[in-house]
Amino acid sequence: MFLNSLYYHLKPLIPRWLQIQIRRQIVRRKREKYSHVWPIDERAAKPPEGWKGWPDGKKFALVLTHDVETIKGVERVTRVAELEKKLGFRSSFNFIAEEYPTPHDQIKYLKEEGFEVGLHGLNHNGNLFESRKKFLRQALRINQYLKDWGVTGFRTPIMYHNLEWIHDLNIEYDSSTFDTDPFEPQPDGVGTIFPFWVPAPHTQSSVLSPHNEFDLSEPVTCNSQPLPAEALAQEGAPSNSINTSERKSQDASRKRSLVTSNNS
Ligand SMILES: [Zn+2]
Repeated sequence: MFLNSLYYHLKPLIPRWLQIQIRRQIVRRKREKYSHVWPIDERAAKPPEGWKGWPDGKKFALVLTHDVETIKGVERVTRVAELEKKLGFRSSFNFIAEEYPTPHDQIKYLKEEGFEVGLHGLNHNGNLFESRKKFLRQALRINQYLKDWGVTGFRTPIMYHNLEWIHDLNIEYDSSTFDTDPFEPQPDGVGTIFPFWVPAPHTQSSVLSPHNEFDLSEPVTCNSQPLPAEALAQEGAPSNSINTSERKSQDASRKRSLVTSNNS
């Protein structure tokens, strides 16, 4: 974990060819070590207890997602979406808030065409969950962007995750975890390919409970706590950040975060 974190911190300074060499070495070592759970962890296929099946009696769900990480990627969004439309798919596009100018036109187009739009963090570097303080400072801006863009989905840059802390984000779902992910910088998989609820820390004792009984058609509400006051007073918080009372009313209607597992 430490080496991983160090690598991702230094990555911008390492020449591309050396990055590739380092990655090859890491991959070779990990492929042997995790051959029993990669690329398929058999245990992840077990439906959670009380699973009522996919909507309309469907046999399975396929989730297509795109993380748009550069301006070059932004320019290709419409082309990719048009191609998928022709094939009968609607996927999700996750945009980064402060890496390039917000592509409002593309976001509008995607929504109108039935695609899903999510937020892929403020920047594509660092670990959002490195410290509580850092996270809370960013959470304010993230919540502001979610509101401005009118979106409710989130995926962390580099797939870092802290399923306890994300309750401070005004989201309906998170897609920052994998069922099995030894090759990710944060390599702890959640062990299921099914979506699962993560109860807010203060409402239930279990933080991560992929086998909770739930019905996809019935969102569960919970009373989440507002962001701690110290976060609202943080230096560097945007001037247009939401105020506490507004925040509380949003929290009252906030749903539990639905976390979807990915298998890339
Ligand atoms: Zn990404």
